[in-house]
Amino acid sequence: MLKSLYFCEACRKQLPDVSEIHYVEENSDRGFCSDKCIMDFYRPFLQVLEKEEAEFRKLLDIEQEDPFLEVTSSQNYLQQALKRPQEIWVVTNDLDQSFYTHILKIQHKQQSLYFILICSYVEGDPAFVFYRMATQHIELVEKYRRDDVYKGESSQQSVSARVPSEVFESVEFKKSKLLAEMLTDRSPHDIALEDFVNYEQFFQQTLEDPDEVFEKLDDESDTIHTYIKSFKLGDESFFYVVVGLLYESEDPMIIPIISFPSVDKKMYPQYAQGQKVINKLRN
Ligand SMILES: [Zn+2]
Repeated sequence: MLKSLYFCEACRKQLPDVSEIHYVEENSDRGFCSDKCIMDFYRPFLQVLEKEEAEFRKLLDIEQEDPFLEVTSSQNYLQQALKRPQEIWVVTNDLDQSFYTHILKIQHKQQSLYFILICSYVEGDPAFVFYRMATQHIELVEKYRRDDVYKGESSQQSVSARVPSEVFESVEFKKSKLLAEMLTDRSPHDIALEDFVNYEQFFQQTLEDPDEVFEKLDDESDTIHTYIKSFKLGDESFFYVVVGLLYESEDPMIIPIISFPSVDKKMYPQYAQGQKVINKLRN
């Protein structure tokens, strides 16, 4: 009996089975029964990080950047910041708890911005995001470049987030090409570009649970995966497309190039091209 006596760290409910325990920290035996309990438990962390940001801003005389809330709440940017940030900074405290700060540079509405998130890792991958913010001020970004360890190109530790910069360059190149194509093919009656932001919630669902995935080689002989999933929003039916580069490494990953919603059935055959791969990247 004692051998299988586990309790949720937040609500203290007994957990009958060790497989039902959720962990969000490495080197920690803190386990939780649900996402809600995780949130409850880590809320004080969030509050401290909020206060820290306010102090940084005060010190640097930078006001809150409310217009960037749409950036901070974007699933698309969040995924990029988790999976392909330019910088990862790690701070480990005396209890061996590590906090990872990811910094992603983005172009948002013709503006250069930084998306910053602070998270924990489990088994080499981000597990729980304590905090996120966006700013255009490099002085503020500088405050988040914590000084413990900089996981640059030379780091030996395997983090799937680290992808060589030439791959990013190639993705940027493909992006401008694919975007131009998509805009040329787009019907004026299709979902307007400025409304894309309302569809970002479907980005992750499309990647995680696609109806179809197609694989093909592009002009540069790189492997491209196109994820397509159809949705219904009210009485509107549409499909969501994510075109990504398959980055082959020990831990293969898809680096999204472009993503968009469409109601135009004529768009579908243009993207449903190549060999159909079923469940290849899913468990
Ligand atoms: Zn609980």
